[in-house]
This record gives sequence, C-alpha cells and structure tokens, in this order.
Amino acid sequence: MVFSEMGDRKVKAYRSVLDYEWLEREKIKICPTCFATDGYYHKDQCLWCYTSCYIHQCLLVDTCPQCQSVWNWDELKNDWKCKCGWQFGETLVTKIKQEENDLSEVVARSCKLTEGKSTSLSSKSPLSDLSLSQISLLMISTALSLHNPGDSLYRLQLPLTNRKLHKLLSKSAQIYETGTSNLSYFIEWFDRFYRVEYKRFGQRKNHLQKLSLVATFRRKLEDLHLK
Ligand SMILES: [Zn+2]
Ligand SMILES: [Zn+2]
Repeated sequence: MVFSEMGDRKVKAYRSVLDYEWLEREKIKICPTCFATDGYYHKDQCLWCYTSCYIHQCLLVDTCPQCQSVWNWDELKNDWKCKCGWQFGETLVTKIKQEENDLSEVVARSCKLTEGKSTSLSSKSPLSDLSLSQISLLMISTALSLHNPGDSLYRLQLPLTNRKLHKLLSKSAQIYETGTSNLSYFIEWFDRFYRVEYKRFGQRKNHLQKLSLVATFRRKLEDLHLK
C-alpha cells in the first residue's frame, strides 16, 4: 500500500480519507511516458478514478502489450518489467481527447499535483471544488448507477480493464459538467448519508446493502437533474 493505513480499511491520502475500494490495490497501472521520463512510479496513478495521465493526455496502461497479462504489484520486485520481460517504460501510449482527460485533471487538482502547471480544465468545472474523497465517492456511485441500470441484483460490477473503466468514468464525469446549482448540496447530502450507512454496516457491506446505496444515489441523482 503506497498510502498510510488508518485501520477500518481506510487510508489517508492527499489530505483525504479514502476507502480501500477507491484505490487499485492489486493491479498496477502506469503512464508509460511518466515512467520513462521520471524513472519512478507516481502514486496518484493507483487512485481508482484516475484512469488517464493528466500531463500526457493518454490512457494509463494496466495490461502487458506483449503477453496480455494484467500487471500487479509483484512486478515491482521485478524491476518494473512484466514477467514476460516487457519493460513498462517502453509501452506505446494511447492518446485520448481533451474532454476525456477532464476527470484526471480534477483528481490531480484535488491532490494539489497541478500547482504551477498549466492545465486546460476550466476552473469552473463543478467538480473542481470537491475533495478527493468526495470525487471518489461520487464517481464510484455514478459509475455503478450508469453501468447497472434497472437495479439488477446480479450486476453490481464495474469494468475491470482500465480502458473500459476510463470510458465509463468519462461518461460519469460529463454528467456533472453541465453544472447545476444543487450539486454541492447533493454531494454533501450523499457524503453524509454514505458515512451513516458505513457506520451502520461497517466496511463489509453486503451486496444488498451496496445495492440499496446505489439505488438511493440514483434516485437522488434523477431528482437533481429534474430541477
Ligand atoms: Zn504521464
Ligand atoms: Zn508481459
């Protein structure tokens, strides 16, 4: 774990308290250009909702281009090479459109990584006032709502590959780009609601409890957009 543990499956990162599930804890994803340029791993790249590099405007890579295996933290012991021998830093990058990079810029800004750097994101993005923990909670809830329509009991899942997750998260973030005066109220409400539920059920929320959280979120989100 690259961040300091706080117990109760939470870590402290960038002045926010994050749940375990808002981090990639098994697989590793990297920006090949950052890695080749700086020669070290950027720990912000293990944030779950950070799927593209805000500096190089490309997808993070989690799968080996040579043997197709998903990279995990064991590869660290192997001097940043895949078990097939592929060097992480030599991976070709996939460029993405500017608007698909907005969420990563919002995340980087909330982590204060962008200070002194020029970014193309408008400072008026409604998401840019949120803390990292609020962004993470909002994005995971929105992604679950979009990806599992119809309250299906059996499909409370999110895409596992970074490429697919990136598409879903770009779509999730764009929902909020239109701006609504009720957004900050909505997020504060959901943040509080989530904490209360969290206290009631603890970290090991079961499937039904998670589903009811997502359903409540979706109803509130629909109300928000009707106003
Ligand atoms: Zn990069
Ligand atoms: Zn490989």
